[in-house]
Amino acid sequence: MIIDVNEIPREGLHIDQDFDFIGLDLVEEDAVFLEPTHAVVEIRKIGAEVLVKGRITTRLSFTCSRCLRPFEFNVDSAFDLVYLPEELDELKEELEEEDLERFFYYHQQLDLRAVILEQLNLSFPFRPLCSEDCEGLCPVCGEVINQGRCACEFRSVDPRLGNLKFFLREKK
Ligand SMILES: [Zn+2]
Ligand SMILES: [Zn+2]
Repeated sequence: MIIDVNEIPREGLHIDQDFDFIGLDLVEEDAVFLEPTHAVVEIRKIGAEVLVKGRITTRLSFTCSRCLRPFEFNVDSAFDLVYLPEELDELKEELEEEDLERFFYYHQQLDLRAVILEQLNLSFPFRPLCSEDCEGLCPVCGEVINQGRCACEFRSVDPRLGNLKFFLREKK
C-alpha cells in the first residue's frame, strides 16, 4: 500500500485495515499467521515530515526455541514514527538526538505495508519461548521436560549441563 506523500490531506489519513503477510516475510521465518495483521494508523504531514502513528495486532504461531513446540504469540504493538524526505538522509547523525524514531521516505512515497511489516518484526522476541521457564527437550528421552513426560533422573541438573551429562553417560 503506497501512500503518495503529496496527496496526504491536511486533516491526515486514517487507515484501519488488515494486511496479509506470510511467515517468509518475517524474521521468524517459520512463524505462521493465525489471523491477518490488523493495523490502525494515522498519517499526518507537517512540512516535509510524515508522522505515522498506529497500532498493530495479530496472532501467530511461533516455534519455541528451547522445546521446539509451537505456541501462540500475540502481537499488540504501538508505534509513533517520523519519516523524513530522503534529502535529509545525509543529515542522519545530527538528527539522532530526538526521542522519536526517524525513518526516511523516498520518491515522495511511503510504503505503508513495508512500515507495518518492519514494526511487526520489531515486536518479536529475540528468542521465542513458549514460557520463560521452558526447560526445553530432554537430551536423553527427547520429551519436553516440564510437561511431566520426561522421567529421567538428571532433571534437577541445570538444563545447560544436560547435554554434557548425557555425553559422559554415553562414554561409560
Ligand atoms: Zn518451550
Ligand atoms: Zn527425559
